[in-house]
Amino acid sequence: MKFSDIPAHDSVKQQLVEMVDNNRIPHALLLEGKSGIGKMMLARAFAQYIHCTGRHDGDSCGVCPSCIQHMSFNHIDTHYSYPVIKLKNRSGAAISDDWAEQWRQFLDDSPYMDMNSWVELLGNANAQPQIFVDESGSLIRKLNFTSHAAQFKIVLMWLPERMNEPCANKLLKLLEEPHDDTLFILVSNEPAKILPTIYSRLRRIEVKRLSDETVGKYLTDHYGTDRDAAEGIAHLAEGSILEAVRRLSTSDESRQFLEMFMSLMRLAYQKKVGVLRKWSNDAADFGREKCCRLLEYCERLTGENYIYNLNDRRLVALDNEESRFSANFARFINERNVERLRSLFIEARRDIAGNANAKIVLFDVAVSIILCLKQ
Ligand SMILES: [Zn+2]
Repeated sequence: MKFSDIPAHDSVKQQLVEMVDNNRIPHALLLEGKSGIGKMMLARAFAQYIHCTGRHDGDSCGVCPSCIQHMSFNHIDTHYSYPVIKLKNRSGAAISDDWAEQWRQFLDDSPYMDMNSWVELLGNANAQPQIFVDESGSLIRKLNFTSHAAQFKIVLMWLPERMNEPCANKLLKLLEEPHDDTLFILVSNEPAKILPTIYSRLRRIEVKRLSDETVGKYLTDHYGTDRDAAEGIAHLAEGSILEAVRRLSTSDESRQFLEMFMSLMRLAYQKKVGVLRKWSNDAADFGREKCCRLLEYCERLTGENYIYNLNDRRLVALDNEESRFSANFARFINERNVERLRSLFIEARRDIAGNANAKIVLFDVAVSIILCLKQ
């Protein structure tokens, strides 16, 4: 991946290029910012730029042997590290190499790093991928080999916030005594969750959200979306291409979540307890991570409907279908029940993320909503 393959982020690209050109490459670099804006692509382009033997005009050449190896994810001194789950029948913890094939496919298909797609490739909707302690051992072994051809051995780590604690502690030792020829590039969506002792050792670059214009243009260029629709979606996506693409597809998850939210509210209003139980079971069947996203969606939509009910439509971030629903529904969300409803969704999400039985938690939520809607 070349820098020129990545939309926007001119000042980050310039900082990275200057690090290399001025021979001031840090031992550990963190690219932090919201998901879906291209941080991993910047990290990949940076690694390729470092290894490229034909750099010119602030970019890698794209044709030298190093570049070719990078583009096919086969560069011998570049190691990817990322959250995984345990392989069936594998004793002990899991390491990134167990999933190398899926990872290459993921980088190819989803350069903006959609976690949902990754979980799908891992083949388990309930998975909460982590970076396990064995990973740090595996990295240490790889880094102890002398580099083959390049001056730098590079570790590209996606989502260090998903390292479990034993792994983070082992990695910390590596960062405390860095080899001269080793570079860690970490890419994080939630830097606040990185162990503070690690975080403080990283040279940090904040990657900013994309402009609405960049996101809209991406939709027009890659999906043929017409300009008006692209502008509307870009506005809702808050600078994230991943979020924009998610919103684009009519068959996408948020359509499904809107259906689920509408039927939840309708059934609760009609006090149809038996059907609510079925609703809870259906939602639980999504698997844990998707269930959490559904609850997050329900919480957001409840908040938006309250604002809609206050008649301040300028502040409402709803798409067309959601607005049509809210025109009738918003009057049921008021200052007496909005906080209770939102906290129901927030607490349920926390419980399910913490491994509680989703069917039971969701049914509790559904029944509590019956009471809330009467207020
Ligand atoms: Zn090159």
